[in-house]
Amino acid sequence: MIPRTAPACQSEKDAIKTDSLPLHWQTTLAAAFREPAKLLRFLELPESLLENTIVADPSFTLRAPLGYCQRIEKGNPDDPLLRQVLPLSEEMQTADDFLLDPVSDLASLQVPGLLHKYQGRVLLITTQACAVHCRYCFRRHFPYQQNRSEQEWQEAINYIHTNPDIHEVILSGGDPLSLTESRLKRLTDKLQMIPHIKTLRFHTRQPVVLPERITDDFLGWLDSLPWKIIMVIHCNHANEIDTSVSSALNKLHQHQVMLLNQSVLLAGVNDDAQRLIELSHKLFTHHVLPYYLHMLDKVQGATHFYVNTEKALKLMDEVRQQLPGYLVPKLVQEQAGEKSKITII
Ligand SMILES: *Cc1c(COP(=O)(O)O)cnc(C)c1O
Ligand code: SF4
Repeated sequence: MIPRTAPACQSEKDAIKTDSLPLHWQTTLAAAFREPAKLLRFLELPESLLENTIVADPSFTLRAPLGYCQRIEKGNPDDPLLRQVLPLSEEMQTADDFLLDPVSDLASLQVPGLLHKYQGRVLLITTQACAVHCRYCFRRHFPYQQNRSEQEWQEAINYIHTNPDIHEVILSGGDPLSLTESRLKRLTDKLQMIPHIKTLRFHTRQPVVLPERITDDFLGWLDSLPWKIIMVIHCNHANEIDTSVSSALNKLHQHQVMLLNQSVLLAGVNDDAQRLIELSHKLFTHHVLPYYLHMLDKVQGATHFYVNTEKALKLMDEVRQQLPGYLVPKLVQEQAGEKSKITII
């Protein structure tokens, strides 16, 4: 445990800076595309496409930061990045096995905001906010509380405290990097009181969709933490990595963060062996190792992204033949009630 040494006035100043005045990344986030019409105009796509962008779920509308949208090819309605963010009327399609809570997360909630499904590690749902709304998201219907109170974090912290076999805390969400440094710090200050925690893991899409988030303040906070730090980023296609993302990943690497990537296998985005291979190579150039390739969780509204197991296995065969073992992600599926994610081979 590292004692808190910062004098109170210092942390107060910090709180004012991060909680009251918007930071550059917060301003960038606020300026994200929210209206399909505007995005289509920006991408020089015909307005007639709007007819296909009916939103099935008003609480999960378009949200895509400008920087991300600049990586979308202009004039291409089938761009693999666009497909991940543009709500399409296909989201209205239902299927009996596409559910609201496909991985039974709700059944695993130990205390509010804390999932303890697997041995040795817990997943803390820190916020519902994301910089982007991914159309295939399996938590899109998750009944988050609007503002997770510090009181609830305390319950989660007590739970971890009384379970000494928990050695890894995973910050997830939503996107944990949606929280300001001062809130993150309040959380990690509490976690530092728990001696059996050895590793802090982030599951975040922000280094990819909002690389501005990797600020000097953020890196400074990371440096102050006593644990091994793992960041699992979420990148589905090589085109998602431009120079701004590359610079964010380099900084994280320089600050001793172990970088891994998880992707979701998505029809029309990355269900092609060459695309997957290109993604692995590109990640590696930026110090990121492929970790998981997830089969789509069958969540209501995402039927049009589904790739079946037979096709997935065929893709993996090709990927394995063309890549060194360390660049081959594990094809996995989340299954309700299982003791780990299921590797599909
Ligand atoms: C995916 C997941 C984890 C992490 O699993 P790993 O196999 O260690 O990456 C932990 N808890 C929950 C609830 C998860 O869904
Ligand atoms: S960033 Fe992750 S949690 Fe947020 S919408 Fe995308 S897939 Fe879902």
